[in-house]
Amino acid sequence: MVVGNEPRLLPEGFRKLPPEARRARLLELLGEGALGDFEATGRDASLVELAGLMVENSLGYAPLPLGIANGFLIDGRRLDIPMATEEPSVIAAAAYGARIIAKGGGFVTRATDPVMASQVFLEGATAGSAGRIRAAEARIRAIAEPLLGSLPARGGGWRGLRLVELPETGLLKVEISIDVRDAMGANILNTVAEGVCPLLEELSGGRRLMCILSNAALERRGAASFALPFQALATVTGSLEKAAETARRIVLATALANEDPTRGVTHNKGIMNGVSALALATFNDTRSIEAAAHAWASRSGAYRSLSSFRIEGECLVGELELPLSFGSVGGAAAFHPASRLVLELLGNPGATGLARIAAALGLAQNFAALLALVTGGIQRGHMRYHAPRIAYMAGARGPEIALVAAAMTEERQFHLDRAREILERVRREGKAR
Ligand code: NAD
Repeated sequence: MVVGNEPRLLPEGFRKLPPEARRARLLELLGEGALGDFEATGRDASLVELAGLMVENSLGYAPLPLGIANGFLIDGRRLDIPMATEEPSVIAAAAYGARIIAKGGGFVTRATDPVMASQVFLEGATAGSAGRIRAAEARIRAIAEPLLGSLPARGGGWRGLRLVELPETGLLKVEISIDVRDAMGANILNTVAEGVCPLLEELSGGRRLMCILSNAALERRGAASFALPFQALATVTGSLEKAAETARRIVLATALANEDPTRGVTHNKGIMNGVSALALATFNDTRSIEAAAHAWASRSGAYRSLSSFRIEGECLVGELELPLSFGSVGGAAAFHPASRLVLELLGNPGATGLARIAAALGLAQNFAALLALVTGGIQRGHMRYHAPRIAYMAGARGPEIALVAAAMTEERQFHLDRAREILERVRREGKAR
């Protein structure tokens, strides 16, 4: 059964109109004023044009807030990290976690070379195909290299060929590893896979099922760690004893995420709050990064925590490593003005630099969430940041928002109905003036 009201369908030919005209048709369809605050997203013609260049049939933007989590200390350098997210409290939590970790010396990060895999799956490969393909590696490479553009000159390019016979489907997987330098690499990898495919078909006597990159990015990882002395943790827990107990509970919480996947998913989602927000802020492919992260979490055969925590002497040690196929050129990363601004703020760190920053951000986010969960609980902080948007939904604007949110927080009532009542009271009493 279909639920909801009748959907509004766009007129024939809508797709062929320029973006500005599409918005005008949308207004006609919904009626004057129906776009509400969305109307503002169409005021800048250059942005509407940009959206039209980025996706098909664009209507403009569904703008996400872009904020900054400040106070990071990464490999000895101070860094403020831009994040794009729709979720309240994520940026505040990242900055809170980062500031505590900075007191203990901050993050140490590393990244592997940005090596990705281009795959051709062959159906009906005849006996001896694997040997023939291996023997022809130089010929395959000679076809691939001209397709790599500037990559070899930049220190990237061909890194090897691997063959895997897949018993369930009977397919032969031909995998070419390529160092894609600062690109995410999807287009380059897909071009290579399609370019070498005819020769692979000839050598194997088989037929392509498909040619595509692998988003698993198993070889392209970023990692971050920190060692937080209990003394530094005590600045938020209140005493050394409480710091030691909090650290013990964080370690236990991570063991729980390893033991119980239903908790592990939420634990890892917290890490991705940071990683995905940086991916969005830099216009990277969030789906690629998220799919790879969750596959990596399952690499042992069970879904486990992406991060690990342990106690070493008088320190809480946190570590995170995961595949991070961030690009700083290509795709939309170097195209969109917002992404260019974000990369500039980060000091144009390149793809591996972004992976290292993302790992530190994910770990800060994870630490902050665990700290809240094993001490006062997550809702106290979360609802403080959520209350203003409930106030907004209730109709509060300008100074009313803070007044309504403060009253809701004081009463611990975070319902729309209550927000409306408080707003009425605020207006009656003229408090917003
Ligand atoms: P791209 O196609 O724009 O290629 C990057 C280009 O930048 C290359 O031509 C390269 O020669 C050039 N370049 C300049 N300086 C470079 C440097 N320092 N390092 C590396 N290259 C440099 O971008 P891409 O990264 O190949 O593709 C990414 C896009 O493809 C993303 O938007 C992604 O969403 C999309 N995509 C994803 C999938 C998937 O994930 N399954 C599939 C298809 C497309």
